Amino acid sequence: MLVTRIIGKCPGCKRENSFGNVNINQNLLLRGCIHCDYSIQIPLPALSKKIIYLDQFFLSHAFRENLEQFVEAANIIAELAHAQLIICPCSPIHKTETLQWRHSQKEQLLEFIKKTSRGNEFNPEYRIKRAQITNSFKRFLENDEKVPSISLRDALPREINNWEDYFWIDVKGLPEDTERIRKSKEDSVAQLVGLFQNWRTQNTTFEQDHQFELIDGAKIYIQLYIEMAQRLANGDFTTLLESPMIVETLLYFDKDEMDIQNRLNRVIGFFKSKYYYEVPCEYISSGLFAALKQKVKNGHYVNEEKAKKTLSGIFYDISFISTYAPYCDAMFIDNPMIDLVKEPKLNLEERFNTKFFARKTWNEFIDYLTKIKEQKSQEIDWGLSLVHV
Ligand SMILES: [Zn+2]
Repeated sequence: MLVTRIIGKCPGCKRENSFGNVNINQNLLLRGCIHCDYSIQIPLPALSKKIIYLDQFFLSHAFRENLEQFVEAANIIAELAHAQLIICPCSPIHKTETLQWRHSQKEQLLEFIKKTSRGNEFNPEYRIKRAQITNSFKRFLENDEKVPSISLRDALPREINNWEDYFWIDVKGLPEDTERIRKSKEDSVAQLVGLFQNWRTQNTTFEQDHQFELIDGAKIYIQLYIEMAQRLANGDFTTLLESPMIVETLLYFDKDEMDIQNRLNRVIGFFKSKYYYEVPCEYISSGLFAALKQKVKNGHYVNEEKAKKTLSGIFYDISFISTYAPYCDAMFIDNPMIDLVKEPKLNLEERFNTKFFARKTWNEFIDYLTKIKEQKSQEIDWGLSLVHV
């Protein structure tokens, strides 16, 4: 057997320095011998890891080591992850944001992010979105009144409460058109800031804005569907790769029993219902835009140039928060974003049982990490002593 860590004499063949840890599979530590077939399996204690999302701001500061406090926090986080108490998965958004970084060390930053995630990666946004909308659509069809539950399986491909094996897998990805993405990001932020003056003249409430943003999102899904259908009719099949396929997925339900018009009407009915409003990613992203609108109306972001700078990452931030927050126990996010997520009417922390931290609530973040460390059980210490002999 391939022994990763030798611990001593083999109880089977009695040879010295030949017995040790082979690997960890789920919660079983396998010990074996390099010379004979003798092996034992040791069950490790059950784990209950917390999921913490670290944003680009945190990770790039921890990587650059230019601010002592980030280095310290990153060390605590590494220690907690090693102790099987937390995981900090990376997401495809981290990768996209890193590639945008105008810095010679961006490859090294990407390595650092992968290392911090220890092989845990969230599913891409579009897959989570599709899973959440489909779940909600099923509830709509069944008139299910129960509070929708969040399934970790939608967000993470692997079971998180397994003990980590010695070798975690590298996170791979496709190359991206960095320049094009950077340009489109700048254009989008400029467009958004360009709306602010008009927003200030509107007397809508937070609830109305929230509703408006939701309807806008639904319209986009329908529009994408119509565009795709037209392109397909014209023989353009590349569209199949680009579309999030939300409407298509919902139209698939009962396709042998109902005609297309009735199915389409039903999908439109769903988009107008509370079931769509309750889809976590839709609820959060539209809510965050509504919260931003409120801030603008209350006199923030008056200077356009400054606003563009402060909000330069807002589309990525809203994207990762709305996609991953329901699956996380805690998130470290940007200062401008924490004001939005803490909007009382949105009630994100309670609704999804997720804590949010930012640089301006630094001490609370460190307290949160320290508490996790203090709650480590003796069983886990015992498990760690077996795994890392
Ligand atoms: Zn042996």
